[in-house]
Amino acid sequence: MEVKEEFVANSTPEYLSGLEEKIKKHRYEVLIAVGGGSVIDVVKISSARAGRPFISVPTTASHDGIASSVASLKSLDKPYSIKTQSPTAVIADSKIIRHSPYRFTASGCGDVLSKNVSVLDWRLGHEVKKEYYGAYAASLALMSANLVMEKAEEIRERTEEGIRTLLEALVSCGVAMSIAGSSRPCSGSEHLFSHALDMIAPKPALHGEQCGVGTIMMAKLHGLDWKKIRDTLKLLGGPTAAAEMSIEEEYIIEALVKARDIRPERYTILNEANLTHSEARSLAEFCEVI
Ligand code: ZN
Repeated sequence: MEVKEEFVANSTPEYLSGLEEKIKKHRYEVLIAVGGGSVIDVVKISSARAGRPFISVPTTASHDGIASSVASLKSLDKPYSIKTQSPTAVIADSKIIRHSPYRFTASGCGDVLSKNVSVLDWRLGHEVKKEYYGAYAASLALMSANLVMEKAEEIRERTEEGIRTLLEALVSCGVAMSIAGSSRPCSGSEHLFSHALDMIAPKPALHGEQCGVGTIMMAKLHGLDWKKIRDTLKLLGGPTAAAEMSIEEEYIIEALVKARDIRPERYTILNEANLTHSEARSLAEFCEVI
């Protein structure tokens, strides 16, 4: 059975249930997802619904869904990721990733760097809302971000070690989510900002690109060294401003204001900041995103 790339990006609920039926009808014992993030998410969801395991074989390193139990597809009725199943195995060939379009690799780095913020948002949820917080899962996510920051130059040069570090970081983020039992260690205010952009921008950018830009602004709200994060993203060749993502500034401001309402149960720095439109504009201007 072949999942065609062109159907995947805008896969409808009917397409997903068709796949599920096919898996059941042909009694496939295991599914192998070979492709980019969307292909892996489609196979992850349909194999889980059919009660079959799947193996993840990513051909790009664009986000941490390659090894996690969560999936996000625009056709699902939720604008954020849902919990499905983890892959039984991940087979990632660093040579294939090295030769994939670099934009996807830089996007994967943006997704990993976002853990600088998501871990702090998780901690905040624990302190304010008495939410479960796991130090081990949090440390694993943060370590992944730190290692990618340290190896930024090597990743940009696509050395074997650089690409391996990114792949291991993406897999570790998936493991952190599995340990936590939710996407909490890897998805905070910066992901809510990206989900909001997916909903309102006419042509959203890649998930990891939007998360990276969101991380710059959320890091500022958290009082982190946001310039270091921005400069690392620049070094990695990822976007750090709205224009580089071809997204107009009005959508950035709207997404900053709307983000806190997307998942009300997920407490983040956006609940503390409670940004108005003019505060959102000031934040984006201050961080040179617009
Ligand atoms: Zn992500």
